[in-house]
Amino acid sequence: MNFLLPLTGSFAMPAAENPTVAMIEAAYHHHGLDWRYLNCEVQPNHLEDAVRGARAMGWRGFNCSIPHKVAVIEYLDELGTSAEIIGAVNTVVRRGDTLIGENTDGRGFVRALQEATDPAGKTVVLFGAGGAARAVAVELALAGVAQIIVVNRSRVRGEELANLLNAKTPARADYAPWEGTFCVPEGTDIVIQATSVGLFPDVDAMPDIDTSSLTPEMVVADGIHNPPLTRLLKAAKARDCKTVDGLGMLVQQGVIGIKYWTGIDVDAEVMKQTLISLKL
Ligand code: NDP
Repeated sequence: MNFLLPLTGSFAMPAAENPTVAMIEAAYHHHGLDWRYLNCEVQPNHLEDAVRGARAMGWRGFNCSIPHKVAVIEYLDELGTSAEIIGAVNTVVRRGDTLIGENTDGRGFVRALQEATDPAGKTVVLFGAGGAARAVAVELALAGVAQIIVVNRSRVRGEELANLLNAKTPARADYAPWEGTFCVPEGTDIVIQATSVGLFPDVDAMPDIDTSSLTPEMVVADGIHNPPLTRLLKAAKARDCKTVDGLGMLVQQGVIGIKYWTGIDVDAEVMKQTLISLKL
Protein backbone atom coordinates (compact mmCIF):
# COMPACT_ATOMS: atom_id res chain seq x y z
CA MET A 1 0.00 0.00 0.00
CA ASN A 2 1.29 3.46 -0.89
CA PHE A 3 -1.02 6.40 -0.36
CA LEU A 4 1.60 8.99 -1.36
CA LEU A 5 0.86 9.70 -5.02
CA PRO A 6 3.31 11.40 -7.38
CA LEU A 7 2.09 14.92 -8.20
CA THR A 8 2.34 16.92 -11.42
CA GLY A 9 0.28 19.83 -12.68
CA SER A 10 0.07 23.18 -14.39
CA PHE A 11 0.49 26.82 -13.36
CA ALA A 12 -1.34 29.31 -15.56
CA MET A 13 -3.64 32.32 -15.47
CA PRO A 14 -6.39 31.89 -16.59
CA ALA A 15 -6.56 28.11 -16.16
CA ALA A 16 -10.23 27.13 -16.39
CA GLU A 17 -10.29 26.68 -20.17
CA ASN A 18 -7.06 24.64 -20.35
CA PRO A 19 -7.97 21.01 -21.22
CA THR A 20 -4.47 19.64 -20.49
CA VAL A 21 -5.51 18.05 -17.18
CA ALA A 22 -8.13 15.87 -18.91
CA MET A 23 -5.65 14.71 -21.54
CA ILE A 24 -2.79 13.96 -19.10
CA GLU A 25 -4.95 12.17 -16.52
CA ALA A 26 -6.49 10.05 -19.31
CA ALA A 27 -2.95 8.94 -20.25
CA TYR A 28 -2.03 8.21 -16.59
CA HIS A 29 -5.21 6.14 -16.19
CA HIS A 30 -4.72 4.27 -19.48
CA HIS A 31 -1.18 3.26 -18.50
CA GLY A 32 -2.09 2.32 -14.90
CA LEU A 33 -0.05 5.20 -13.46
CA ASP A 34 -1.47 6.29 -10.10
CA TRP A 35 -0.24 9.85 -10.62
CA ARG A 36 -2.16 13.13 -10.37
CA TYR A 37 -2.13 16.30 -12.49
CA LEU A 38 -3.49 19.43 -10.79
CA ASN A 39 -4.65 22.39 -12.88
CA CYS A 40 -3.72 25.45 -10.77
CA GLU A 41 -4.58 29.08 -11.41
CA VAL A 42 -1.53 31.04 -10.28
CA GLN A 43 -1.32 34.83 -10.42
CA PRO A 44 1.98 36.28 -11.65
CA ASN A 45 2.84 37.69 -8.18
CA HIS A 46 2.42 34.19 -6.69
CA LEU A 47 4.52 32.27 -9.21
CA GLU A 48 7.63 32.16 -7.01
CA ASP A 49 5.60 30.78 -4.09
CA ALA A 50 3.93 28.23 -6.37
CA VAL A 51 7.32 26.92 -7.55
CA ARG A 52 8.62 26.82 -3.95
CA GLY A 53 5.47 24.93 -3.00
CA ALA A 54 5.98 22.41 -5.80
CA ARG A 55 9.56 21.90 -4.61
CA ALA A 56 8.52 21.59 -0.97
CA MET A 57 5.77 19.08 -1.77
CA GLY A 58 8.02 16.97 -3.96
CA TRP A 59 6.08 17.50 -7.20
CA ARG A 60 7.65 15.44 -10.03
CA GLY A 61 7.16 18.27 -12.49
CA PHE A 62 4.71 20.77 -13.89
CA ASN A 63 3.70 22.70 -16.97
CA CYS A 64 3.75 26.49 -17.21
CA SER A 65 1.42 28.30 -19.53
CA ILE A 66 0.52 31.93 -20.21
CA PRO A 67 1.75 34.20 -18.56
CA HIS A 68 4.50 32.23 -16.74
CA LYS A 69 6.63 30.67 -19.50
CA VAL A 70 9.42 33.26 -19.29
CA ALA A 71 8.99 34.43 -15.69
CA VAL A 72 9.40 30.90 -14.28
CA ILE A 73 13.00 30.66 -15.49
CA GLU A 74 14.43 32.64 -12.57
CA TYR A 75 13.00 30.12 -10.07
CA LEU A 76 14.53 27.05 -11.79
CA ASP A 77 18.00 25.51 -11.45
CA GLU A 78 18.83 24.55 -15.05
CA LEU A 79 17.51 24.81 -18.61
CA GLY A 80 17.43 22.25 -21.41
CA THR A 81 19.08 23.20 -24.72
CA SER A 82 16.03 24.32 -26.67
CA ALA A 83 14.43 26.08 -23.67
CA GLU A 84 17.66 28.05 -23.37
CA ILE A 85 17.59 29.12 -27.03
CA ILE A 86 13.83 29.80 -27.04
CA GLY A 87 14.03 31.69 -23.73
CA ALA A 88 10.82 30.13 -22.43
CA VAL A 89 9.80 27.04 -20.45
CA ASN A 90 6.54 25.11 -20.66
CA THR A 91 7.60 21.94 -18.81
CA VAL A 92 9.55 21.67 -15.56
CA VAL A 93 11.18 18.35 -14.68
CA ARG A 94 12.47 17.37 -11.26
CA ARG A 95 15.70 15.39 -11.14
CA GLY A 96 16.64 14.79 -7.49
CA ASP A 97 16.44 18.26 -5.94
CA THR A 98 17.03 20.04 -9.24
CA LEU A 99 14.25 21.69 -11.24
CA ILE A 100 15.05 21.71 -14.97
CA GLY A 101 13.13 23.87 -17.45
CA GLU A 102 12.34 22.34 -20.83
CA ASN A 103 10.29 23.55 -23.77
CA THR A 104 8.17 20.87 -25.43
CA ASP A 105 5.84 23.17 -27.43
CA GLY A 106 8.10 23.24 -30.49
CA ARG A 107 9.05 19.56 -30.28
CA GLY A 108 5.38 18.66 -29.95
CA PHE A 109 4.64 20.70 -33.04
CA VAL A 110 7.47 19.09 -35.03
CA ARG A 111 6.28 15.58 -34.09
CA ALA A 112 2.72 16.42 -35.15
CA LEU A 113 4.00 17.93 -38.41
CA GLN A 114 6.15 14.86 -39.11
CA GLU A 115 2.95 12.83 -39.48
CA ALA A 116 2.27 14.93 -42.61
CA THR A 117 5.77 15.75 -43.90
CA ASP A 118 9.48 15.57 -43.06
CA PRO A 119 10.58 19.17 -42.41
CA ALA A 120 14.28 18.50 -43.19
CA GLY A 121 15.50 20.68 -46.08
CA LYS A 122 12.14 22.44 -46.47
CA THR A 123 11.19 26.10 -46.83
CA VAL A 124 8.75 27.38 -44.21
CA VAL A 125 6.58 30.48 -43.98
CA LEU A 126 5.82 31.09 -40.30
CA PHE A 127 3.15 33.55 -39.19
CA GLY A 128 3.79 34.93 -35.69
CA ALA A 129 6.80 35.64 -33.50
CA GLY A 130 5.37 35.16 -29.99
CA GLY A 131 6.18 32.36 -27.55
CA ALA A 132 4.61 29.56 -29.59
CA ALA A 133 6.18 30.76 -32.85
CA ARG A 134 9.63 31.02 -31.23
CA ALA A 135 9.39 27.46 -29.90
CA VAL A 136 8.16 26.10 -33.23
CA ALA A 137 10.81 27.98 -35.24
CA VAL A 138 13.73 26.87 -33.06
CA GLU A 139 12.69 23.21 -33.11
CA LEU A 140 12.06 23.27 -36.87
CA ALA A 141 15.53 24.76 -37.35
CA LEU A 142 17.06 22.09 -35.12
CA ALA A 143 15.10 19.46 -37.13
CA GLY A 144 16.90 20.58 -40.31
CA VAL A 145 14.53 23.02 -42.02
CA ALA A 146 16.50 24.96 -44.67
CA GLN A 147 14.77 28.34 -44.61
CA ILE A 148 12.22 30.08 -42.40
CA ILE A 149 10.43 33.26 -43.45
CA VAL A 150 9.07 34.91 -40.31
CA VAL A 151 5.95 36.97 -41.04
CA ASN A 152 4.82 39.08 -38.09
CA ARG A 153 2.69 42.15 -37.50
CA SER A 154 5.24 43.75 -35.16
CA ARG A 155 8.52 44.24 -37.01
CA VAL A 156 10.61 44.30 -33.82
CA ARG A 157 9.43 40.87 -32.64
CA GLY A 158 9.64 39.40 -36.15
CA GLU A 159 13.19 40.62 -36.74
CA GLU A 160 14.22 39.50 -33.27
CA LEU A 161 13.08 35.94 -34.04
CA ALA A 162 14.79 35.90 -37.47
CA ASN A 163 18.02 37.17 -35.85
CA LEU A 164 17.79 34.54 -33.10
CA LEU A 165 17.41 31.74 -35.66
CA ASN A 166 20.33 32.98 -37.75
CA ALA A 167 22.56 33.34 -34.68
CA LYS A 168 21.71 30.15 -32.79
CA THR A 169 20.54 27.55 -35.32
CA PRO A 170 21.73 26.17 -38.67
CA ALA A 171 18.60 27.41 -40.54
CA ARG A 172 18.51 30.56 -42.66
CA ALA A 173 15.84 33.01 -41.53
CA ASP A 174 14.40 36.21 -42.98
CA TYR A 175 11.78 38.60 -41.69
CA ALA A 176 8.94 39.59 -44.03
CA PRO A 177 6.64 42.44 -42.99
CA TRP A 178 2.92 41.63 -42.64
CA GLU A 179 1.32 44.67 -44.18
CA GLY A 180 -2.07 43.92 -45.70
CA THR A 181 -3.00 40.53 -47.10
CA PHE A 182 0.07 38.25 -47.24
CA CYS A 183 0.66 36.17 -50.37
CA VAL A 184 2.53 32.93 -49.62
CA PRO A 185 5.50 32.80 -52.06
CA GLU A 186 5.64 30.06 -54.68
CA GLY A 187 8.01 27.26 -53.69
CA THR A 188 7.00 27.34 -50.00
CA ASP A 189 6.72 23.78 -48.63
CA ILE A 190 5.18 24.38 -45.20
CA VAL A 191 2.91 27.21 -43.99
CA ILE A 192 2.53 27.60 -40.23
CA GLN A 193 0.01 29.81 -38.43
CA ALA A 194 1.41 30.45 -34.93
CA THR A 195 -0.38 33.67 -33.99
CA SER A 196 -3.31 33.75 -31.58
CA VAL A 197 -5.75 34.70 -34.39
CA GLY A 198 -8.71 32.29 -34.47
CA LEU A 199 -8.43 31.17 -30.84
CA PHE A 200 -11.72 30.69 -28.93
CA PRO A 201 -13.83 32.83 -28.50
CA ASP A 202 -12.73 34.66 -31.71
CA VAL A 203 -13.35 31.55 -33.80
CA ASP A 204 -14.40 33.52 -36.88
CA ALA A 205 -11.16 35.52 -36.99
CA MET A 206 -8.94 34.71 -39.96
CA PRO A 207 -5.25 35.64 -40.28
CA ASP A 208 -4.81 38.07 -43.16
CA ILE A 209 -3.43 35.53 -45.66
CA ASP A 210 -4.29 35.30 -49.36
CA THR A 211 -5.57 31.72 -49.38
CA SER A 212 -5.54 31.66 -53.19
CA SER A 213 -1.71 31.62 -52.87
CA LEU A 214 -1.92 28.18 -51.13
CA THR A 215 -1.19 25.31 -53.51
CA PRO A 216 -1.80 21.55 -53.10
CA GLU A 217 1.92 20.77 -52.59
CA MET A 218 1.95 22.92 -49.44
CA VAL A 219 1.36 21.53 -45.95
CA VAL A 220 -0.60 24.03 -43.84
CA ALA A 221 -0.42 23.82 -40.03
CA ASP A 222 -2.25 25.84 -37.39
CA GLY A 223 -1.18 26.01 -33.73
CA ILE A 224 -4.69 26.90 -32.53
CA HIS A 225 -6.20 23.88 -30.74
CA ASN A 226 -9.52 25.46 -29.76
CA PRO A 227 -11.19 25.08 -32.21
CA PRO A 228 -8.96 22.56 -34.07
CA LEU A 229 -10.58 23.22 -37.45
CA THR A 230 -9.79 26.91 -37.89
CA ARG A 231 -10.97 29.06 -40.77
CA LEU A 232 -7.45 28.92 -42.19
CA LEU A 233 -7.39 25.11 -42.14
CA LYS A 234 -10.82 24.98 -43.76
CA ALA A 235 -9.56 27.24 -46.54
CA ALA A 236 -6.37 25.16 -46.92
CA LYS A 237 -8.38 21.93 -47.20
CA ALA A 238 -10.54 23.57 -49.88
CA ARG A 239 -7.27 24.29 -51.76
CA ASP A 240 -6.31 20.56 -51.48
CA CYS A 241 -3.42 21.21 -49.07
CA LYS A 242 -2.47 18.64 -46.43
CA THR A 243 -3.29 20.11 -43.02
CA VAL A 244 -2.04 19.71 -39.44
CA ASP A 245 -4.19 21.02 -36.56
CA GLY A 246 -3.21 22.33 -33.11
CA LEU A 247 -4.56 19.26 -31.29
CA GLY A 248 -1.61 17.22 -32.56
CA MET A 249 0.82 19.79 -31.10
CA LEU A 250 -1.00 19.87 -27.77
CA VAL A 251 -1.06 16.06 -27.55
CA GLN A 252 2.56 15.56 -28.59
CA GLN A 253 3.96 18.18 -26.19
CA GLY A 254 2.02 16.33 -23.47
CA VAL A 255 3.45 12.97 -24.56
CA ILE A 256 6.99 14.40 -24.31
CA GLY A 257 6.22 15.97 -20.89
CA ILE A 258 4.88 12.69 -19.46
CA LYS A 259 7.97 10.87 -20.76
CA TYR A 260 10.16 13.38 -18.88
CA TRP A 261 8.19 12.95 -15.64
CA THR A 262 7.39 9.23 -15.62
CA GLY A 263 9.83 7.71 -18.13
CA ILE A 264 6.87 6.13 -19.98
CA ASP A 265 5.96 6.54 -23.65
CA VAL A 266 2.23 7.06 -23.47
CA ASP A 267 -0.34 6.42 -26.20
CA ALA A 268 -0.95 9.71 -28.04
CA GLU A 269 -4.22 8.42 -29.48
CA VAL A 270 -5.78 8.02 -26.00
CA MET A 271 -4.94 11.66 -25.29
CA LYS A 272 -6.22 12.86 -28.66
CA GLN A 273 -9.51 10.98 -28.32
CA THR A 274 -9.98 12.50 -24.84
CA LEU A 275 -9.58 16.00 -26.30
CA ILE A 276 -11.91 15.19 -29.20
CA SER A 277 -14.55 13.91 -26.75
CA LEU A 278 -14.45 17.33 -25.04
CA LYS A 279 -15.76 18.82 -28.32
CA LEU A 280 -13.55 21.93 -28.11
P1 NDP B 1 1.98 35.45 -27.76
O1 NDP B 1 1.07 36.44 -27.10
O2 NDP B 1 3.36 35.25 -27.26
O3 NDP B 1 2.11 35.85 -29.34
C1 NDP B 1 0.98 36.20 -30.10
C2 NDP B 1 1.37 36.26 -31.58
O4 NDP B 1 0.16 36.49 -32.33
C3 NDP B 1 2.30 37.41 -31.92
O5 NDP B 1 3.13 37.06 -32.99
C4 NDP B 1 1.30 38.52 -32.34
O6 NDP B 1 1.87 39.47 -33.22
C5 NDP B 1 0.31 37.68 -33.11
N1 NDP B 1 -1.00 38.33 -33.25
C6 NDP B 1 -1.93 38.53 -32.29
N2 NDP B 1 -3.01 39.12 -32.82
C7 NDP B 1 -2.75 39.31 -34.15
C8 NDP B 1 -3.48 39.86 -35.24
N3 NDP B 1 -4.70 40.36 -35.07
N4 NDP B 1 -2.92 39.86 -36.46
C9 NDP B 1 -1.68 39.34 -36.65
N5 NDP B 1 -0.93 38.81 -35.66
C10 NDP B 1 -1.47 38.79 -34.43
O7 NDP B 1 1.16 34.09 -27.77
P2 NDP B 1 1.76 32.59 -27.93
O8 NDP B 1 2.79 32.62 -29.00
O9 NDP B 1 2.11 32.05 -26.60
O10 NDP B 1 0.48 31.79 -28.43
C11 NDP B 1 -0.01 31.94 -29.76
C12 NDP B 1 -1.08 30.89 -30.01
O11 NDP B 1 -0.52 29.60 -30.03
C13 NDP B 1 -2.16 30.88 -28.92
O12 NDP B 1 -3.40 30.94 -29.58
C14 NDP B 1 -2.01 29.55 -28.24
O13 NDP B 1 -3.27 29.00 -27.90
C15 NDP B 1 -1.35 28.71 -29.33
N6 NDP B 1 -0.55 27.64 -28.71
C16 NDP B 1 -0.90 26.35 -29.01
C17 NDP B 1 -0.22 25.31 -28.43
C18 NDP B 1 -0.66 23.91 -28.75
O14 NDP B 1 -0.19 22.98 -28.09
N7 NDP B 1 -1.50 23.69 -29.76
C19 NDP B 1 0.92 25.51 -27.53
C20 NDP B 1 1.23 26.90 -27.30
C21 NDP B 1 0.49 27.91 -27.88
P3 NDP B 1 2.60 40.81 -32.65
O15 NDP B 1 4.01 40.38 -32.28
O16 NDP B 1 2.55 41.72 -33.79
O17 NDP B 1 1.80 41.26 -31.47
